[in-house]
Amino acid sequence: MDRTTRTMARSKHIALVAHDNCKKDLLRWVAEHKDKLASHELYATGTTGHLLSKETGLPITCLISGPMGGDQQLGALISEGKIDMMIFFWDPLNAVPHDTDVKALLRISAVWNVPVATNRASANFMITSPLLDQEVAIEVPDYDSYLAERIN
Ligand code: PGA
Repeated sequence: MDRTTRTMARSKHIALVAHDNCKKDLLRWVAEHKDKLASHELYATGTTGHLLSKETGLPITCLISGPMGGDQQLGALISEGKIDMMIFFWDPLNAVPHDTDVKALLRISAVWNVPVATNRASANFMITSPLLDQEVAIEVPDYDSYLAERIN
């Protein structure tokens, strides 16, 4: 597939998601990095977002709750190039009812080359990256040429 670039602004659109058994961990991580996160635009699935904004006071755009469609909503935002990175503390030890949606969200993040942190260590690497506060060009699929190939 042909590639093109998408420019992430200095202020990033960051998605935050945690499965129920991981919400405490994400809360702790967000509280620890509250100052850094405050200069970015935050999005979260419904329950995660409401909990995080209640506990930290950070402004967060809350989508629908994950099992009710929030993962799909987030996936759609990613496809539209509206999310720059995602912190997704998914639960590796317990089944969730919306497993297919979780898989779809991780798949679409990979399609659009969205950086994803899935645990505390990777989230720490991401939040301390010098790229976080810089304008960054990332490689993405060239959708126009993808479409042109399919219709011509
Ligand atoms: P929630 O959804 O924030 O509404 O709990 C998270 C998820 O399971 O994707």
